[in-house]
Amino acid sequence: MKKIKIQNSQKEFVVGKIACVGKNYLEHAKELGDAIPEKPVIFLKPASSIIFSGEKIIYPEFSKSLHYETELVLLIGKTGKKISKQNALEHIEAYAVGLDMTLRDLQSEAKSKGHPWTISKCFDTSTVLSEFIPKVDVKNPNSLELKLWINGELKQHDNTSNMIYSVEEIIEYLSYYFTLEEGDLVFTGTPKGVGEVKRGDKLIAEISGVGKLKTEVI
Ligand code: MG
Repeated sequence: MKKIKIQNSQKEFVVGKIACVGKNYLEHAKELGDAIPEKPVIFLKPASSIIFSGEKIIYPEFSKSLHYETELVLLIGKTGKKISKQNALEHIEAYAVGLDMTLRDLQSEAKSKGHPWTISKCFDTSTVLSEFIPKVDVKNPNSLELKLWINGELKQHDNTSNMIYSVEEIIEYLSYYFTLEEGDLVFTGTPKGVGEVKRGDKLIAEISGVGKLKTEVI
């Protein structure tokens, strides 16, 4: 069981499902050589994959291509189904910076065979989270600067304004198909600039006005 605490708050949430959007930035879909999706690409990660800033990512022995993906993360604070875009923000409790670590070799192989890419996204330590800050501290989640450094070198730098589907549209879309429950997390997709990490690499991810996380690959 993984628990989320919110900065300057006594509130605590047990993490339910982690719903993720794939290819939500045009330039990232292009760099993967994928077609631009007509609808949001959705997949899930388990809560067991979560680590927090300061903890380490364990490079799995069954892969040779571990990629970082920096993303804005939403914490759902109010359960809902078929939530409209207009009401979407009411269901968010807090925001964080997240890394959706991905085994690109396993994912590509699964994609080419038309198989689910579950293992590539769900291995232990594949989900890294910063502290969560309350929603009231973020004026507009669709206009936030994201950055990722590896060993001090800037690798990803973009803005959530370049998301194909906004935070509100993502919540509307997901909750049409399944209930979003209190404690669920939503990963909103990564911008361009993804790439590999090696053992020993130090990662810092930051979203302006939201927070920062630090981790290391071992
Ligand atoms: Mg991702």
